[in-house]
Amino acid sequence: ADGGKVILCSHLGKPKGEPKPELSLAPVAKRLTELLGQEVKFAADANVVGDNAKAAVAAMNDGDVILLENTRYRAEETKNGEAFSKELASLADVFVNDAFGTAHRAHCSNVGVTEFVKGDCVVGYLMQKEIDFLGNAVNNPERPFVAILGGAKVSSKISVIENLLDKVDTLIIGGGMAYTFMAAHGEEVGKSLLEEDYEEYALKMEKKAEEKGVKLLIPVDTVVADDFSNDANFKVVGRGEIPADMEGLDVGPKTAELFADAIKGAKTVVWNGPMGCFEMPNFAKGTIAVAQAMADLEGATTIIGGGDSAAACNQLGFGDKMTHISTGGGASLEFLEGKDLPGVVAADDK
Ligand code: AMP
Repeated sequence: ADGGKVILCSHLGKPKGEPKPELSLAPVAKRLTELLGQEVKFAADANVVGDNAKAAVAAMNDGDVILLENTRYRAEETKNGEAFSKELASLADVFVNDAFGTAHRAHCSNVGVTEFVKGDCVVGYLMQKEIDFLGNAVNNPERPFVAILGGAKVSSKISVIENLLDKVDTLIIGGGMAYTFMAAHGEEVGKSLLEEDYEEYALKMEKKAEEKGVKLLIPVDTVVADDFSNDANFKVVGRGEIPADMEGLDVGPKTAELFADAIKGAKTVVWNGPMGCFEMPNFAKGTIAVAQAMADLEGATTIIGGGDSAAACNQLGFGDKMTHISTGGGASLEFLEGKDLPGVVAADDK
């Protein structure tokens, strides 16, 4: 509206440095045109910033918006290469980074480019919102602060558990990662997901929780099935009673109640990772119970880490009941680990 010329860039999928027509951003320009109610031109160019794109940018009028081709058509993009960073920077005076979903990666289009843009490099409104919500929740939470972690593996959430134990009042562990905690106590977990190498770590985390006065909850019952399928035979068993030939695919009803009670009264809740295989309706109840308990809170800040928990929340119909659903799975996880995100740091530097 003020006459600026806007050059948009993004990636789509993993073309791995080669132009792939099915991953072209051409349809994105069309859709953006509809959403903006203003033409968004597409700078078709297999080199992203090749002669065609440069000419298209040079021909822009004040107020024009243009979209570049998929930045991952260039192999240097994901390596944060200098040449491509310079090419991108050469097009613009000012750089706005609004890609929270990529903020945990140092690529040309979000980090490298900031070294070469002449003017300011800043974060956009979405980045600001993500940083405000996740940052406040983790560093300055209104208490009680409850974190819920689930999903498949302990190994992928080690640093999150460790960092959150310094901050939360209650830590709830569900999903596939809970079986490693059970096995660590010598309990039979049958064919459930298990990371034996992390049993000792699980015990260490329980000890840390105790020392810190953090309530750490793991499932007290489990829905076990004879196959990894929605059509499998299934039943509920108590803790330590998982049959050797079955696998746990969801937390049981007593656990759902225990977790929901722990969420009640919370002022800040952060959730990352489903409580079971929510993609199969027979094993979605635990995840629904947690989502429902969060949705029922009044005056609390409820935050969903991106990825599978965001998908679960939206798919199960709780999307509009949460304060904030992060747009970045990996990025929000690294944020919860207490790490600095390269994309944020680079923009802040200028
Ligand atoms: P993550 O990416 O680590 O958050 O894992 C998410 C995935 O974990 C989802 O696709 C769930 O279906 C899966 N998951 C959750 N609980 C279990 C479980 N008990 N057994 C197997 N997979 C699970």
